[in-house]
Amino acid sequence: MPELPEVETVRRGLIPAMEGRVIARAEIRRPDLRFPFPDRFRERLEGQTIEALERRAKYLLARLCSGETLLMHLGMSGRFTIHWPEEGGGDSPGDFHHAAGGLEKHDHVIFAMSGGIFVIFNDARRFGFMTLFPTEGGEDASPFLSGLGPEPLGNEFSPAHLDAVLAGKRTPVKAALLDQRVVAGLGNIYVCEALWRAGISPRRMAATIPGARSARLVPAIRDILNEAIAAGGTTLRDFKAADGTLGYFQHSFAAYGREGEPCRKADCGGIVSRLVQAGRSTFFCPGCQR
Ligand SMILES: [Zn+2]
Repeated sequence: MPELPEVETVRRGLIPAMEGRVIARAEIRRPDLRFPFPDRFRERLEGQTIEALERRAKYLLARLCSGETLLMHLGMSGRFTIHWPEEGGGDSPGDFHHAAGGLEKHDHVIFAMSGGIFVIFNDARRFGFMTLFPTEGGEDASPFLSGLGPEPLGNEFSPAHLDAVLAGKRTPVKAALLDQRVVAGLGNIYVCEALWRAGISPRRMAATIPGARSARLVPAIRDILNEAIAAGGTTLRDFKAADGTLGYFQHSFAAYGREGEPCRKADCGGIVSRLVQAGRSTFFCPGCQR
């Protein structure tokens, strides 16, 4: 499942194809993905300029000049493919499907952007979704955004914030960090990685994190995410050269998926273990995570 760094990488990849461009045509090829598309979805998209393409947690937010925001979520398997115009190609989409390079199975939404660019959303498992909400209403105007905690890479996310929200919380720290009201957009993989880097056991009670452990955890979370975004940028250049598909990137992880392998911390000597918490696999090193 794409996590925050992957979504950010997708956003950066989509910017040249979408930001500042008009959605000349939109083709919605089924009535729903995970949820039904909004009423008159096509009509509300066509002719709109995308003023900005932003990200909040794992949501992509296209700010339309109509005053609505197009919210897009990749779900489990969602990906975008960009078809750039042929050299010397015109502005007109012409034969939609021909210009889009022929459609694949699970190509559910097609945006024909100004400049002869096609942006195609493909989602085999259909856990992704798209919806609209009034931009003016802010995050409270979208049920997906209201109540979200701070962005892990934003200024609001600080040791003081973590101290305040974890104080007295009697759940394991891993579960607390997956709570989107505590911090927005963190998923299973990066929580495992951040706890490993900070040397904190995933089983430790959240209430014991405030203080020195918060001071280690916040920079660990930021560094892990920033490194993954930087790696995504590298992948993005390679992907763009290949087929323009945005959505999946193979990162290397220090803890996640490494059960039975030696801990990568110098002088630790521990072996990465796996345990199941709330139905999800947690990877951690019992040697250095306390
Ligand atoms: Zn270790």
